[in-house]
Amino acid sequence: MRKEMRIGTLIMAGMLCTSAFGEDQYLVLARRGEAATHAIRVQEGASSNLVHAARELSRYIRQLTDVDVPLASGETALHAICLAVKPGLGRDAFRFRTAGDDFHIEGDDERAVLFGVYDFLENYCDCDWLTPDQDFVPHQDLVQVPRDLDRLCKPAFAIRDCYYSDARERPDFAAKLKLNEDDPFDQWLWKCHTFTRLMPPEKYFKEHPEYYALVKGERKGEWNANLCLTNPDVLRIVTSNLLDRIAKVYPEKKVFGVSQSDCWDHCECESCTAIDRREESPAGSNLAFVNAVAEAVAKKYPDVIVETLAYQYTVKPPKHLRPRDNVMVCLCTDQCDFSRPLTESRFHSRGRYFVDDLRTWCAITGNRVHLWDYTMNFQYKLHAFPNIYSLKGNLETFLDCGVTEVFEQGPLPSRHQAGETLKLYLLGHLLWNPRQPLKPLLSRFYNRYYGEAGLWMRRYMEELHAVSRVRNETEVPLMMWGVLDSPALPTDLFEHGAIWLEKAAEAVKDDPVKSRNVRWERNANDYTRIMRSEKPTPELAAAAARILEDWKNFPDAARISESSSICDEARTKLEQYAAGL
Ligand SMILES: [Zn+2]
Repeated sequence: MRKEMRIGTLIMAGMLCTSAFGEDQYLVLARRGEAATHAIRVQEGASSNLVHAARELSRYIRQLTDVDVPLASGETALHAICLAVKPGLGRDAFRFRTAGDDFHIEGDDERAVLFGVYDFLENYCDCDWLTPDQDFVPHQDLVQVPRDLDRLCKPAFAIRDCYYSDARERPDFAAKLKLNEDDPFDQWLWKCHTFTRLMPPEKYFKEHPEYYALVKGERKGEWNANLCLTNPDVLRIVTSNLLDRIAKVYPEKKVFGVSQSDCWDHCECESCTAIDRREESPAGSNLAFVNAVAEAVAKKYPDVIVETLAYQYTVKPPKHLRPRDNVMVCLCTDQCDFSRPLTESRFHSRGRYFVDDLRTWCAITGNRVHLWDYTMNFQYKLHAFPNIYSLKGNLETFLDCGVTEVFEQGPLPSRHQAGETLKLYLLGHLLWNPRQPLKPLLSRFYNRYYGEAGLWMRRYMEELHAVSRVRNETEVPLMMWGVLDSPALPTDLFEHGAIWLEKAAEAVKDDPVKSRNVRWERNANDYTRIMRSEKPTPELAAAAARILEDWKNFPDAARISESSSICDEARTKLEQYAAGL
């Protein structure tokens, strides 16, 4: 750690020397100890959003250099840092350029200007955005840009949506990570599992069991039932209920989900099976149905999109059918192995075959696939899910295949789950540009988020990831529904990890913020150790007490699973261990 910090200091000193000798190559925007030479200028009558972007830039330049850079809306005697909207740059894109002694940050819209401000602070001033409440802002002598700077920055993916509490509930932080949510979906008919909303079994099943999926000779009418997709009455009722809903929220909402339930039981009746056989996938009957619904919708609402899932049994695309132009396909990685990038997975049916399916979906939709990706274990959110190398590799694959929209599901509504802060930090950067190298991002995060504990945290994380990347020991895929005792992650990993985490905690014990940052990961590691153990030791008892104390103070951290029985079981065992039982 110390060695790395010294190297970092030398590099910074080198940069400063360069600027001192060749200052005419740089336009200095603020110099520590001197009065402001520039004002931040926005157009007269600029919106509050643009003024906010200007205030943020001024606030951070002050933190960096102690120089107060004023805001101006008209002419001033000072040079200008101009913030302006320049439509036509491309969605979310921004441009940095110098003109004489002025510097311009231009964005396609107001949000893009704000993205540009944060990107400038990150890439030209060495700031970092770690969590909503933890910025890294170094002290600088100069804020400067190359005099010949003219750079257009565009995101790799148009939609960069992270389903993480720190992104969804803190739009200020999401803007720093240049994420967007842009949810044009109807809230009631969102992007998944809407069949039973459109046709509730409690309303229809009793009189018309034939509306629902025939599974092993029996019609199923549970809460998560699927529909018989070739029954003409089902098509009529779903279409009618969907049109009623559209009428209520159109034109504010223009995307409506018509999608299978979260259940593998699809209809096996003769006519549904006939389509699925012809199409060599149950996606056949699903798409035939959704196309028919979408055809009716298009007659009344030509600009409305009907979204459907390619999930579980519908991931494999149909052989002949093609989605209509007003149908969006949301392809999910729910069955994938995340121990390695998909193209390198040892489990072909969970890796490269998925990529083949993705390519086909992109081809038959004209690259209109909305990709739903999973970034953790959803059964046990506190259980490690070492996928950071897969995140990058998979995003590169998605980009290569032509995907433009990515939804990354994280632990929301839970917080403080395994690896959560690091993953959101990486996703923010990689969704903007998945081609960038991972190592510098990791170094920055470990050093800045964990401080003196960074070295130990890096060792801990690297060991977790090495089990599948290097050791190649397990014969089990890393799945988002993996069980807690899955041999994908052997127990010795967590026992060894406890050593690194204890050193990490010791290294930052006098720093309350870094100490807390370490503790969340330590809780996650200890949780798995406790749940896998048979009896308490004094050390595990202390760990259990630590976790329970945090669950008391941070209730979001106690939501460690989608299942309340798993949460209850964990709490009971932790309480027993904390009591030494
Ligand atoms: Zn059927």
